[in-house]
Amino acid sequence: MILGRHNLAVFSMIAAIVSGPILRARPQRFEFSQPHMGTQVRVVVYAPDAATAWRASRAAFHRIAVLDDSMSDYKTSSELMRLCRNAGGPPVRVSRDLFHVLARAQEIAQQTNGAFDVTVGPVVRLWRRARRRVELPDQNELQAAQKLVGYKNLRLDPGSRTVQLLKRGMLLDLGGIAKGYAADAALTVLKRYGISRALVAAGGDIAVSAPPPGEAGWNVGIVPLDSPSQPPTRFLALQHAGVSTSGDAEQFVEIAGQRYSHIIDPRSGQALTGHSSVTIVAPDATTSDTMATAFSVLGIDEAQELATSLPHLGVFFARQTASGVRTYERGIHLSAMPQGAETRPER
Ligand code: AMP
Ligand code: MG
Repeated sequence: MILGRHNLAVFSMIAAIVSGPILRARPQRFEFSQPHMGTQVRVVVYAPDAATAWRASRAAFHRIAVLDDSMSDYKTSSELMRLCRNAGGPPVRVSRDLFHVLARAQEIAQQTNGAFDVTVGPVVRLWRRARRRVELPDQNELQAAQKLVGYKNLRLDPGSRTVQLLKRGMLLDLGGIAKGYAADAALTVLKRYGISRALVAAGGDIAVSAPPPGEAGWNVGIVPLDSPSQPPTRFLALQHAGVSTSGDAEQFVEIAGQRYSHIIDPRSGQALTGHSSVTIVAPDATTSDTMATAFSVLGIDEAQELATSLPHLGVFFARQTASGVRTYERGIHLSAMPQGAETRPER
């Protein structure tokens, strides 16, 4: 049969109606990885083709790099460090992102009664040096640094989008929030490129949108506290959520038989001791990141109290005690096996 132009159009239309859903390619999985924010950032997307996946992930990584340039306390040129150089001076106008992160940090500081506190910078510096030198910080230096800590000395004005650090010498540290925020921001960029099924993992801070096709969620694995190099033993299936794990598994120093974490109790200026891990599931990774750090500071008993007033959070807390690993879990569905075909778990 020879088809005229008109007939061909009709034929194609019918073919499209009949076979459209079948011919439309099922999105494929693409994975990319780049170093940012002192960790390896992984982006996993389901996209119709490689070019779309590549363009979208490139834009997502670029967004993360821009945020790192703004919020790093390792880069003296960052917007954050410029702000800190004005500590004790007048309010400083900052970017939307930095303002948003600081505003969120202040909300979490209030909710956790100061267990999460981005003004902890001066004390963090001393403990970082202690980890490098494997010797405890000087007590006088620690006391002087501790006087500069306190989220109430950080003033934000949403109207003028300005930030004021009330005391000279104050130093902000966004190490407990920036990775979660960056993961959320990257997910938003991917959406703008039409990608609705994605995962962004910035170290232990993960943001996910819709699940892989045909699956209940993204599999996230939690490694056992007493053998962190072993494969995960507990699994979560998540969608449209943030999940973060905080603890001393990777960053700690042992001095005179005591284990000191990179997480600081801002109320005492002391590094957390002992061995624990907290996984938080929240509506977004900014919240899960901050809350995982805060819950670590609060410890398993205070964390239980706070968890009951924050029903939107899922919590899994594990702490090494003399009699073994003590755990607390709430509002979280853990399974012993990864669910669905996407078996490679995120850790
Ligand atoms: P995370 O790994 O998300 O628990 O964040 C830990 C990092 O946040 C540390 O390396 C510090 O840079 C910073 N930090 C430590 N303790 C606190 C705290 N209590 N509140 C806010 N940030 C903290
Ligand atoms: Mg955190």
